[in-house]
Amino acid sequence: MARKNRDEEGRVVSPDVQPDDAELSLRPRRLREMIGQNKVKQNLSIAIQAAKLRSESLDHVLLSGPPGLGKTTLSNIIANEMEVTIHITSGPAIEKPGDLAAVLTSLEPNSVFFIDEIHRLNRAVEEILYPAMEDFKLDIVIGRGPSARTLRLDLPQFTLIGATTRAGLLSSPLRDRFGLQHTFELYETEDLTKIVTRSADILKVGMEPSGAIEIARRSRGTPRIANRMLKRVRDWAQVKADGIITREIADIALREQGVDELGLDDIDRRYILAMIDKFEGGPVGLETLASILGEEKDTLEDVHEPYLMQMGFINRTGRGRMATRPAYEHLGRSYPQKVIKGYEPPQGILFNAEN
Ligand code: ADP
Repeated sequence: MARKNRDEEGRVVSPDVQPDDAELSLRPRRLREMIGQNKVKQNLSIAIQAAKLRSESLDHVLLSGPPGLGKTTLSNIIANEMEVTIHITSGPAIEKPGDLAAVLTSLEPNSVFFIDEIHRLNRAVEEILYPAMEDFKLDIVIGRGPSARTLRLDLPQFTLIGATTRAGLLSSPLRDRFGLQHTFELYETEDLTKIVTRSADILKVGMEPSGAIEIARRSRGTPRIANRMLKRVRDWAQVKADGIITREIADIALREQGVDELGLDDIDRRYILAMIDKFEGGPVGLETLASILGEEKDTLEDVHEPYLMQMGFINRTGRGRMATRPAYEHLGRSYPQKVIKGYEPPQGILFNAEN
């Protein structure tokens, strides 16, 4: 189990998931400071107030959605709002049932236990979690073979918050034990503009509103990417201009980083071009695409595809991925006109691949 560390607020965190200082300082700490995800915030706010009124721990929470949308941030916020400590770790860091037992027995009453990438917990560890989540009991097996006995220990009440890129990756017995389940959606440009503006204020960067909109528009619906872009554009503004981020500066700096005017990066473009140039637009299996691009299948599925689908550039079908007409047009390829065999279209009308 990873060694215990404490963050700047004195809460226990594991070193394997510590963000850098700049990222920490940009993290909202209260529900009212968190921008967007209104449905998730509203539901949680009510659940938190009710739990506090009853002086109970909050029900277990499962947060799913692509990386960088604020799942860790919200978990810290929940602990702050509940006025309890948080213990942070991740699925792969808990290797043995004993590692988990050590954490569970050391939790303060009503505290938050956050497991990032919870879908990566191994089976043996997961089974310890079931009675812990349901009855706040820990089952320990003593001895081996026929003389083995199970000892049941009481645990303090706690709130487990699990984060995952896709709720479907969890086994159903684990998923069913979360009373509160929320999915994060990619952010709208308007909310990302507010996030970039807030971050620029914290980092004391001068920025025109048009500069904020430009960064927001190109950050693939993801606050982490928006903040990262803001820092790169700030560098550019300081070295090549007067330090103020304008729309033009943001445009030039992002283009230099390989981010096009719709926010697509190099991998997004190679993904679409592989489909168009090698497979006539698809359908093509994700595994084939991953091996052609030399990228992890999970990265394509969790990081790239949600945005490409939101932009309407790809469709996921039962037979594989397909590039759409807007994808062809965006990448300057001509869209193939497919004529249906044995059918003579009336003159002047051509059928395309979508028909
Ligand atoms: P996840 O756990 O989903 O991968 P994080 O919680 O680590 O994402 O968020 C990444 C970064 O994005 C955080 O450091 C935070 O600064 C920023 N961020 C995420 N969501 C918001 C939000 N709603 N408002 C402001 N900043 C946010």
